[in-house]
Amino acid sequence: MRQNEGDIVELMRRRPHLFILGAGATKATIPNGDKYGRQSPVMENFLREIGIESLLNGVKLRTKSHNIEAIYSELVTKPEYTDIVTKIEEGIVTHYRQMQIPDAPTLYDYLILSLRKKDCIATFNWDPLLIQAYNRVNKITHDLPEMLFLHSSVAVGICEDCRHYEPYRNKYCSLCGEPLISPRLLYPVENKDYSQNIYIQDAWNTLQNYLETACIVTIWGYSAPKSDKEAKKIMLKAFSSDYRPLDQIEVIDIADEDKLYETWQPFAKDTNYHLNIHKSLMDTYIGEFPRRSVEGYVKRNIEGWWGGSTFVMKECNTFEELAKLVEPLLVNESRKDYNVI
Ligand SMILES: [Zn+2]
Repeated sequence: MRQNEGDIVELMRRRPHLFILGAGATKATIPNGDKYGRQSPVMENFLREIGIESLLNGVKLRTKSHNIEAIYSELVTKPEYTDIVTKIEEGIVTHYRQMQIPDAPTLYDYLILSLRKKDCIATFNWDPLLIQAYNRVNKITHDLPEMLFLHSSVAVGICEDCRHYEPYRNKYCSLCGEPLISPRLLYPVENKDYSQNIYIQDAWNTLQNYLETACIVTIWGYSAPKSDKEAKKIMLKAFSSDYRPLDQIEVIDIADEDKLYETWQPFAKDTNYHLNIHKSLMDTYIGEFPRRSVEGYVKRNIEGWWGGSTFVMKECNTFEELAKLVEPLLVNESRKDYNVI
């Protein structure tokens, strides 16, 4: 291999792996509900699922939809329903704050532990499960991916005085001591203006950087609904801003494959149709090359390696078992060795 080819390969290896999560990811992570059997509601029938449907008693709505975003979008335009909007927002926050990740390792734990600091997980979900998983996997290693909450999260707290954000459980701003507030979670569909929310604005800026530089982008359980038309446009623009024919898109979803191809085709086009569709997280690059997904991808597809990984992610019953499983990788990392094993 010529010198400059080696440099290109080395640069590729250092590129991030970006995960984008939607509601389907949380559903797959807690198929039987959270630690106490609470389900993660879907946008359709949302208010009924979290048990606050009665708030709409006596409210006259034009929309016949049961989708929370459609209902919210109509309510916020009517001043007489300000109180109801506030109560709906409070109900959503209360429901999600109660959610607890099950005790045994979940897919979210495997996901976070299978990525490193250079990588990123961006989620559209409001639930606190991803952060709860992060906090326990962080006991195994601190070299973990950055996390972005694209529609905010009940786990994020904001200080309105310093325009600074941190985990909501800290309760008070670590800079000025003022109480942290919960950022808004819902936005009207027609005009999803995130610029009012400092946390969300920063998250989107960072996401765009990752979209421009990632070697692998994996979209898990995110259907890019019509209400997120603007979001999809921003993502595609950032992704298309660079030369990508060597890069890879992965989609993890249980939906119909033809529909998934149609949804993600504009992204796949840029990668020369390197689009893989999987039903499960464990079938993706991180399942085969945990903590080495981009390294494994480059070794196989750029360097022409025919071998397979001898180290794959496995479901574990306890965190001790999981820590022991990844130990060989962490030992190598302590010597700055990020090679596939
Ligand atoms: Zn403050």
